[in-house]
Amino acid sequence: MIVIKSPSRMLEAASRLKDPGGKSIGFVPTMGSLHEGHLSLARRARKENDIVVMSIFVNPSQFGPNEDYKKYPRDIRGDKRKAELAGVDIVFSPGVRQIYPEGYGSFVDVKELPGIMCGASRPGHFKGVCTICAKLFYVVRPDIAYFGQKDYQQALILTRMVKDLDMGFKIKILPTIREKSGLALSSRNQYLTCAQREKAAVIYESLKIGKALIDAGCKNTGRVKAVVRRMIKSKLGIKIDYISIVDPYTLREEKNINSKVLIAIAVFIGKTRLIDNILVGHNSRR
Ligand code: AMP
Repeated sequence: MIVIKSPSRMLEAASRLKDPGGKSIGFVPTMGSLHEGHLSLARRARKENDIVVMSIFVNPSQFGPNEDYKKYPRDIRGDKRKAELAGVDIVFSPGVRQIYPEGYGSFVDVKELPGIMCGASRPGHFKGVCTICAKLFYVVRPDIAYFGQKDYQQALILTRMVKDLDMGFKIKILPTIREKSGLALSSRNQYLTCAQREKAAVIYESLKIGKALIDAGCKNTGRVKAVVRRMIKSKLGIKIDYISIVDPYTLREEKNINSKVLIAIAVFIGKTRLIDNILVGHNSRR
């Protein structure tokens, strides 16, 4: 495994692999502090491509001024070890100044989808995500990029960006990896105390209850949300940011459930913001 730090070197390496060599590149963008969720993406990329590139970069432009950019967990040494074991060939880990040099001024913004759900409580977040991913995609030149369903809205927005900008590669969205309790793995779980971590299991439990209600024939999103909300509120110390039941392709809020939907939740446990979601409906395309 090799480590590349400069974007121009990354572009050079990708071009050398692709143009004369004709190798396919699978790409896994991450912010590091790797866990099994990230590694599941790397392993799938390993199976489906000649070369696997993983980026590790805590992207300042996707954090709000009062968010956790400074204290976001970083463990580049451990990450390199884990990435190598998962079959990654190239770790791309640039520094902030290499990505955003003095005077940097170009951003990518997708219409509509970023203003709702996570975007409503994190203004500018998806603009930062789209900008960093566009830059990474440009230098890594992937054939397939891999994202987790846990960050469903992010994956959908990036799919739109790749299509709109004719970037010409495929995005694959892979299932959420969970702890035994059902809690979705997240680098931010490290912020939780033991008691908070136990409480956090209610997020997925309540998503499953919501799904069971819909599977049993409930078509009223208000009712499903009320049950999910009540269940989450039964755990003291959890504040709900949003509970949304949306069309999984447009993220439009649904009043009545007639086909497939996504139930998505964001909560605060103490100061830690956690998200999760579940797809409901029989003709699942994902
Ligand atoms: P992050 O480092 O949090 O920006 O995540 C990098 C990638 O890993 C994104 O595509 C995430 O959706 C994905 N990811 C994060 N947590 C999980 C998880 N528990 N299961 C599957 N994928 C995940």
